[in-house]
Amino acid sequence: MKPAVFIERDGILNRVRIEGQQQIGPLTLDQFHLNIEVAPLLHELKAAGLVVIVTTNQPGLSRGIQSRRDLDCMHQMIRQAFPINDLLVCPHEDADRCPCRKPKPGLLTEAAYKWGIDLNRSFVVSDKWQDAEAARRAGATSMLVRSPWLGDVHHDFVLPDLPSLIEKLLQLCSPRTLATA
Ligand SMILES: [Zn+2]
Repeated sequence: MKPAVFIERDGILNRVRIEGQQQIGPLTLDQFHLNIEVAPLLHELKAAGLVVIVTTNQPGLSRGIQSRRDLDCMHQMIRQAFPINDLLVCPHEDADRCPCRKPKPGLLTEAAYKWGIDLNRSFVVSDKWQDAEAARRAGATSMLVRSPWLGDVHHDFVLPDLPSLIEKLLQLCSPRTLATA
């Protein structure tokens, strides 16, 4: 059983629009801009032996406002730009009552089954409370970038930016740290 890092897509791997209190993810390719500076950080996670998996809620699919074709193109670009093992999508909205829409842990448990992942030794990286809650329910460690979207759910670690977050994560999962803990 391997440890993994689950990475939220919107706001971490690609830019989002801020509208009022909300993050709005891109719906079309012209709205889609990768945070390419994140790629070296993901290479470090991969080099540390972690399975790297992207997870994303895309309720626009269920609502009919997100085309599957555009979404597939975006995800092809993500797979080309970043060293990821897999990318899992929840296409549902709340009304669908699916088990995979974060904060539910369905995408994490699905990936755990598919990849032989030990969730208790795994991490979730995000800037939103839904991922922190999914991590808690799945028994993984949540690592959050400080943001207005952290809510009042349980957070294991909150760091000021992504580079310091990844540094902390690598310290936590190094065998030497575990041995001396
Ligand atoms: Zn779902």
